[in-house]
Amino acid sequence: MVLTAFPSADTARFRAKGPRQLDEISARYGLTPEITTAIRLISQVLPFRVNDYVLENLIDWGDVPADPMFQLMFPQGGMLGPEDERRLAKVAGDRAGTRELVNRIRARLNPHPSGQKQLNVPRLHGSDIAGVQHKYRETVLYFPGQGQSCHAYCTYCFRWAQFVGDADLRFAAARPDELIEYLHCHPDVTDVLVTGGDPMVMSTERLASHLMPLLAVESVQTIRIGTKSPAYWPHRFVTDNDADDVLRLFESVVRSGRHLAVMAHFSHPRELRTDLARAAVSRIRSTGAVVYCQAPMIARVNDDAATWAQLWRAELAAGAVPYYLFVERDTGPHEYFKVPLAKAVRLFQEAYRQLPGLARTVRGPVMSATPGKVIIDGVETTPRGRFFQLRMLQARDPSLAGRPFRALYSPSAAWLTDLQLDLTAPQDIAAAVLGRPSPVRASA
Ligand code: SF4
Repeated sequence: MVLTAFPSADTARFRAKGPRQLDEISARYGLTPEITTAIRLISQVLPFRVNDYVLENLIDWGDVPADPMFQLMFPQGGMLGPEDERRLAKVAGDRAGTRELVNRIRARLNPHPSGQKQLNVPRLHGSDIAGVQHKYRETVLYFPGQGQSCHAYCTYCFRWAQFVGDADLRFAAARPDELIEYLHCHPDVTDVLVTGGDPMVMSTERLASHLMPLLAVESVQTIRIGTKSPAYWPHRFVTDNDADDVLRLFESVVRSGRHLAVMAHFSHPRELRTDLARAAVSRIRSTGAVVYCQAPMIARVNDDAATWAQLWRAELAAGAVPYYLFVERDTGPHEYFKVPLAKAVRLFQEAYRQLPGLARTVRGPVMSATPGKVIIDGVETTPRGRFFQLRMLQARDPSLAGRPFRALYSPSAAWLTDLQLDLTAPQDIAAAVLGRPSPVRASA
C-alpha cells in the first residue's frame, strides 16, 4: 500500500454543522436574511448538515443561491411547495403545532419510495430483520446502525427519512448477526451493499465490526460500500486519525479474495477538483478496491450535458469507473429537483457522445423503481408514434432482467409511474410495472 503524505494544514477534525450553526454560517458567508429564513424554515422538514470542508471548498459563495453545490446541500425556499411553506411559517413559535405539521408534510413526501418497507424487508424465524433489505436475488442492502448519517446531507437525498430522528422511518441494524445468519441460509446472495447514510462516518473499528463477519460467509463474493465521503469528507481516507487503518481494513477484505467495490457518489465535477478528494480516491484504489461512481441527475445541480461529461472524465482521470446516472426518485422535494425523462435521456446521450471509450462504462438514465432498475435507452419515432425505449436492467423478478419494452413518449413524464406502457409491452413486465410485483420476501 502506498501512503501518500498530506500537508498537516489539512488535518482538520470533522465537525458537523446544521440548523444550530446557521447564523454563524450566514454571517461568515454573507447570506441574505431571506435566504437564511428559508433555510431555517425548510430544514425543519428536510435534514440539513454541512461541514467546514464543503463550505470552504465546494460552494461558490459569489453565485449563491443558484450555485449547484449550494442547491445540493442547503434546503431552499420552493422545495416544499408554497402552501406547506406558508403553513410552516404560520405555526412558527408553536412547538406542538410545528411538530404535527412537520410530521404531516414528511408523510406526504413518500419517505420510503419503491415499496422499501413493504416489499424488501427479509424475514428470519418469522420476524422482519432490522436494517436489511433484499430486493434483488443476488444482492442485499445492509444498514449498520452507527452509519446512518453522512458528512453532509444532500437536499435531494432519497434516504432523507433515515436522518430526521423518527425511528419508524429508519432502517438500522445494531449488529450484523441476523444478516450473517440470513446469508448462510441464502447462498444465492453474492453481493452485500453496506449503505446508509454513509458507512464511512463510522470509526474504522466500528466499520470492521460490521464488515469482518461478512468474510466468514463463503457465498459472499462482493462487498460494496455506498459512500459520499470522498466528496464531502475526503479526510476520511487521507488525514483522519484512523485513515490508514481504514485502508488496512479495505486491504484485508481484498486479501480475503472478495471484490471490494466503493460505490462513490459524485454529483458534480467540482467535488473532484480538490487535491484531497483525488488523494482519497487514489488511496482507496491503492488497497485493491475498485471505485465505481454514481449519482442522480438533478434540476439546478447537474442537469446539463457539459457537467456530466466533465464529471465522467474527471472520474476516469482519477482511476474510478463511471457507473450509473440515476433519475431522481419520487421522494422528498421531487417536484423541485425532478428532470423530465425526455430531457434526461437527451442530456445523457449528449454527454456520452463526448466521452472517450473507457468512460463509456456509464449507464443511464436509470430509474430505481418498485419492479427494478429501468433504463431509458432512447426515444424512437415509428409510424405508430413516438416511444421511450426501456429495458429492465435489474429486476425483483429475475426473469424480467435484460428485457426491453416501450412506453408512449411524454415530454413531461419524470418517473416510471408517469408513463403509459405501449400495448406491445410483454404481460409480465406490464404487470410488474403497473404495480403487481412479486416480492422477494424470503424467510428462513
Ligand atoms: S450522501 Fe447519500 S445518503 Fe447521504 S444525504 Fe447524500 S444522497 Fe443521502
